[in-house]
Amino acid sequence: MTIGLDTRLREVLGKKTVDALSEGLGLDTVGDLLGHYPFRYAQRGEQTDLGALQIGEDVTVTAQVRAAVKKSFVPKGRGSRQPGGKPRDLLEVVVADEGGRSLTLTFFNQSWRAKELVAGRWGLFAGKVAQFRGRLQLNSPQYQLLAEDAADPSSAIEEFAGSLIPVYPATAELPTWNIAKAIHTVLGLVKSPPDPLPASLRDRLSLLGYGTALHQIHRPDSHEALGAAKKRLKWQEALVMQAVLVRRKAEAAGDSATAYAPGGALPDAFDARLPFALTDGQRQVGAEIAAELAGEHPMHRLLQGDVGSGKTLVALRAMLQVVAHGGQAALLAPTEVLAAQHHRSIVEMLGDLAQGGELGAPPEATRVALLTGSATAAQRRTVLDEVKTNTAGIVIGTHALLYDGVDFADLGFVVVDEQHRFGVEQRDALRAKANRTPHTLVMTATPIPRTVAMTVYGDLETSRLTELPAGRTPIATHVVPYTDQRWMTRTWNRVREEVAAGRQAYVVCPRVGGEDAEDSGASDKRPPLAVVDVIEQLRAGALSGLRLGLLHGRLDADEKDRVMRAYSAGDLDVLVATTVIEVGVNVPNATAMVVLDAERFGISQLHQLRGRVGRGAHPGLCLLVSEAAEGTSSRERLDAVASTTDGFALAELDLEQRREGDVLGAAQSGMKSHVKLLSLLKDADIIEAARAEATALIDADPKLAGEPGLAALVDDLAADRGEFLEKG
Ligand code: ADP
Ligand code: MG
Repeated sequence: MTIGLDTRLREVLGKKTVDALSEGLGLDTVGDLLGHYPFRYAQRGEQTDLGALQIGEDVTVTAQVRAAVKKSFVPKGRGSRQPGGKPRDLLEVVVADEGGRSLTLTFFNQSWRAKELVAGRWGLFAGKVAQFRGRLQLNSPQYQLLAEDAADPSSAIEEFAGSLIPVYPATAELPTWNIAKAIHTVLGLVKSPPDPLPASLRDRLSLLGYGTALHQIHRPDSHEALGAAKKRLKWQEALVMQAVLVRRKAEAAGDSATAYAPGGALPDAFDARLPFALTDGQRQVGAEIAAELAGEHPMHRLLQGDVGSGKTLVALRAMLQVVAHGGQAALLAPTEVLAAQHHRSIVEMLGDLAQGGELGAPPEATRVALLTGSATAAQRRTVLDEVKTNTAGIVIGTHALLYDGVDFADLGFVVVDEQHRFGVEQRDALRAKANRTPHTLVMTATPIPRTVAMTVYGDLETSRLTELPAGRTPIATHVVPYTDQRWMTRTWNRVREEVAAGRQAYVVCPRVGGEDAEDSGASDKRPPLAVVDVIEQLRAGALSGLRLGLLHGRLDADEKDRVMRAYSAGDLDVLVATTVIEVGVNVPNATAMVVLDAERFGISQLHQLRGRVGRGAHPGLCLLVSEAAEGTSSRERLDAVASTTDGFALAELDLEQRREGDVLGAAQSGMKSHVKLLSLLKDADIIEAARAEATALIDADPKLAGEPGLAALVDDLAADRGEFLEKG
């Protein structure tokens, strides 16, 4: 039997190990197992910071045995009056890190272990961290002692003779050294797996062969060899990922789409009544989009622009171009609040151009339908009918638009607002509702650093709106210490002043409150402030006499819509809300925002939030209230937000502080499991170079027929990304 990466593990390993690998870690093939990389490498004498252990955590620590003490232990009886049981042997072993922090290991009736757990020996110890009489301990841990030195022939465990010991993500049934053993066995069987990287690329960049790289990542000879192995494996991840995106882009460019000529009675009428001039950016991006909609191939474009930069207007003008020529446009919003708001503002901007079929409406008028999950059955029927008969040229909705039963007469254009909330799968599901591939425009207000754009949105062209419409005054942002009574009084007075001047304010809290108080009682820290409590306090105190409204995600859709309408109409002075207002909510008369417990929010989130104020002619003010002490990293984040309104600078900063998985996001589940070593932040050079290599490869050989190994990986990843939805 030849053993390759596809070979099932059950053909090469024992049943117990195979079951544990499969059930605990989802590893079923040789390739799966070899792709289970160590997350760190332990070294003799290395210090695991025992002080950082958390109770309840499953850990594998590297530590040195200090002492082993045999004790006798009388187990307690079940009831208090019952006598204790037979005395048992208890072996207590104290291990310590180099910083002198210690951890106790306990073993019952295994005092023979004292023979091997002698003072001075280093080992890996794995178990769940528990606490007993104020001390941290591992009860009956699994362990593996390290060879006393690399050349020590008496080492009990020869596998650990090297200086860098792989430590794997493990399970209770399968400690890291058992995984290491399984990998060792498998590495010995798979001599040289076919290399998916093109040979010419490998030579040119002096990358290790695949087999060598796998060997070195699991059993590195040296730090240098490990570095070379990681580099090579990262290159593979980057090249496969970029090849998927480049190929998808190339294929999409080959699809045919309905062409919608620029201009027409409807867009012309709309432009003629616009109350303001377009910004240069809007004009330029608008022309770019208009030209693409007029082409025979589908547009796939990402439109980035800070909050308030006027993306929605750009999208609306594009939608009108499509509608003018008989097509339909769908606008997909991430929340009901946003869908309803888009609907409201688009209907308002269109005026009688949205009253198609009604008496007195201009002949070029269309209708704008709103479809959300909360529509009544009757509303839904009406809307579905308008959509099906092309009475509604523009259809706005949440993911309810994706469900079966929503049939478009002729969907030609899909606009996705705030893409980061949607998966590629959802985007594709909507596109699958069109007869031909529709044109797609994705809008996002979150500035996206280049490498992220290249990976997460790597199959899209990108445009940016870099300026805000004229007449906007930048938002002033200040950090306010929560514990300083004078500052807090001043904060609420500022809100009162804005309201007195006829304007409106937001108060944002991290939590809804009420039943979501969860485990907050368990900690001695104050739970985050909750809107339901804060609104009562403000009503009774600092903001008494003002008209306050409450908005959060647990309200039903009608109530949310009612509150938003009242606030938009100026019937409420202050909206006390959670982050439901984060994305896209637009009330130009709102000029002040107070964010409570501001350190609970991410940098980009705060930037998005404050984008809700200062959208009109009056200057905006954002007060970030926090208990975070000067000098802490939380406080530094807030100071950063206060110091700049450059969304890109903040996005980069945000990215540095987030975990890689969060960056790729749920939108990219397939990518996440594929990208194990590559960092979007630190490996920008590899990603950019891989992009260029992938483009050259696919230009020359679109089906990658000459690189079957690479083609197979590309197909796998493409399938994981859910591209089949589009085709099926
Ligand atoms: P975004 O979606 O990028 O956050 P919007 O399209 O919602 O921004 O625009 C924000 C506000 O600015 C809206 O009230 C819109 O009518 C207005 N607006 C858009 N473009 C311009 C412009 N060129 N001049 C003045 N106001 C504009
Ligand atoms: Mg918007």
